[in-house]
Amino acid sequence: MTMDPRHASLFEPIRVGPKTFRNRFYVAPHCSGLGVEFPGAQAYLRGMRAEGGWAAVNTEYCAVDAESDDSPWVQARLLDERDEANLRLMVERVHEFDALAGVQLVYMGADHTGYVTRLPAGGPSQIASGMSGHSCYAMDKSDIRRIQKSYVDAAIRARDVGFDLIQVAAREGFSLPLQFLWRYWNHRTDEYGGSLENRTRFWRETLEQVREAVGDDCAIVAGFCLDSFNDTTERAFKVSDDGVGVVEMLDDIVDLWDMQVGHLEDDVSSSRFFEPFWQRDYIEQVRAYAKKPIAAVGRFTDPELMARAVGDGVIDIIGAARPAISDPFIPNKIRDGRAEDIRECIGCNMCVSRFNNGGGRIVCTQNATVGEEYRRGWHPEKFNPSDRGNDPILIIGAGPAGMECARVLGERGFEAVHLAEAESEVGGHVNWVSRLPGMRTWRRVVEYREAQLAKLSNVTVLTGKRFDVEDVLDYGASTVVIATGANWDRTGTSPMTHTSVPGADAHPGMVFTPEDVMVDKRTVHGSRVLVYDCDGYFMGSSLAQKLAIEGKEVILVSPTDQVGSYLFHTDEGGHVMHALLELDVELVTSHALTRIEPGRVTGHNVYHEAKESSWAVDSVVLVTQRRSRNDLYEQLTADPERLSAAGIAQVLRIGDCVEPRVIAEAVFDGHRLGREIDTSDPAAPLPFIREQRILGWREEDYDGVLRHVLPLTPVSRTTRA
Ligand code: ADP
Ligand code: SF4
Repeated sequence: MTMDPRHASLFEPIRVGPKTFRNRFYVAPHCSGLGVEFPGAQAYLRGMRAEGGWAAVNTEYCAVDAESDDSPWVQARLLDERDEANLRLMVERVHEFDALAGVQLVYMGADHTGYVTRLPAGGPSQIASGMSGHSCYAMDKSDIRRIQKSYVDAAIRARDVGFDLIQVAAREGFSLPLQFLWRYWNHRTDEYGGSLENRTRFWRETLEQVREAVGDDCAIVAGFCLDSFNDTTERAFKVSDDGVGVVEMLDDIVDLWDMQVGHLEDDVSSSRFFEPFWQRDYIEQVRAYAKKPIAAVGRFTDPELMARAVGDGVIDIIGAARPAISDPFIPNKIRDGRAEDIRECIGCNMCVSRFNNGGGRIVCTQNATVGEEYRRGWHPEKFNPSDRGNDPILIIGAGPAGMECARVLGERGFEAVHLAEAESEVGGHVNWVSRLPGMRTWRRVVEYREAQLAKLSNVTVLTGKRFDVEDVLDYGASTVVIATGANWDRTGTSPMTHTSVPGADAHPGMVFTPEDVMVDKRTVHGSRVLVYDCDGYFMGSSLAQKLAIEGKEVILVSPTDQVGSYLFHTDEGGHVMHALLELDVELVTSHALTRIEPGRVTGHNVYHEAKESSWAVDSVVLVTQRRSRNDLYEQLTADPERLSAAGIAQVLRIGDCVEPRVIAEAVFDGHRLGREIDTSDPAAPLPFIREQRILGWREEDYDGVLRHVLPLTPVSRTTRA
């Protein structure tokens, strides 16, 4: 297929300082939980984007100084030769596919933790951080020079390692140059504080020094937060004056602007609250002042939107973090006229949530292979054929797990893959979850897989038939995969109490589960509804939001100290709380329900059982925990003789029917089984490379121990001579 001519502008090369981008696609810096601790995973994660056609691929935030210790959150580092050696592998992997490699240099300032190094860190003023809860020392001029030298030293190391783009970041509400820029942080009265020119001085000097050191060899990138967003105070950093002023002052000393708006939770804009490229209005205000190219993110997955953004001259380069996580092959798919095959990011932020929740590794709801490129040898677009491809396989349940498993088996060339679904349409619980307020974009989980399955002639999809044991035994499959999902618990059993809520089963007309409301569309009686959220992710607050929009008076009760606490890891928490408060939802935290009676629900404070509260309500929605729908699996596996008489060699299970988890894990589970269904024991995952230092082992054994089962070999593991 050939490229749609409307997208041709996205493939015009562009000069960026001493470097040339082969096209307009740029993977913006984003965290991964890999840093320099998992160099193989880091190299292959970033390298996959280079292979997928991006012109430039960045690291995550990379510390320039030991004081910038953000542990347990995992950043990259360029402090010594060991860090260089580990990042060199990434650069080589990116270069192997003719892309440019970029590094984002950062000093965290007051946002540091110091948990490993136990060092204090400096800031423009001694102001504690709302993010880390830590303070800092107020930097004097010698401190400023010392940290600027750290930036220069790190830039030289980056250049020596082979990085092409060196970013000095003032982005996303953190990093030292931003702290100098924002009055929120900078209370100084010397030449580094006060006027915009003074507040820009630290960044200008640092950029100049880095340019002086490496500017002939590397493009210098200014990672710039244009506007503090959502700050209505006088100290706010506003694009109309501060943003414009900074671009005017620095445009002559940078080669590329990497622009964004707001703090991390705004930048990682959830699809529930932000449209793609909502940043456009902000960038338009500075465009006229920037002669250098501008890259910016905007959760771009639609080539039309990308072509418009570039064609209108608002930006020159499409920046992407999440779209590239969800589909590293976006540029090549557009180039090859296969835009309909793009696995579009749903904007759920599960990727960043693992990192936010203590530095965990990257995952993706849509792309099960992300982070697995090296340790499991998974390629998002390539699948090994099987020598058991003529085994007929029946998958029961077409939720995310079953659909993904069928897709992978289809891609691997299994001749007869049958996917059976009880409902009239595929998609499982995502069908109704995506009808919750603002969650329409989540349907992409279903739409992508449905479209891909339609292209696989070896996969048959049967809908509208609920399979029982006899149906399965009679079907003629040799492998059966159970992917029957999970249901919300009806008794109120929760992670807090491990028992049911008394009265939950005695008043069925008053008590509802999420499926009652969303699937069976039962009428939630009366005007006052209590939603009991022990789950902590989106379900409780989304149902509260939905019911409040429908005009109910809603009380949202949670046994934890924060309603929807996981939403703060997906960077949606603040936006969700704002939406609930706008709707006058009453938030009650630290309370467990103890009794449900007609017209009344009673609970107590989890820290003091004698402190009881009760609420007069007409209905209760229990969002406490889910339970696997396991009956079919248990009935089938209870009688091995019948299975073997029916020619069924194995019954496996995946997804929520094993353990109710987030969609990303159901997709992963289905994907994993699809890749490994023909091993001697497919229920047990193949081992993966752990990148763990093993004392006494030789260098080649470090990671190399699994090479005989995994297809990948690192490009290089050189260390500096
Ligand atoms: P997961 O997230 O693990 O994919 P879901 O709950 O989203 O799980 O999807 C499970 C799907 O399995 C649902 O669409 C449900 O209708 C379907 N299902 C459950 N039991 C059967 C059955 N006996 N026969 C066919 N389909 C079933
Ligand atoms: Fe997009 Fe969600 Fe994947 Fe992150 S986890 S890249 S937001 S689909």
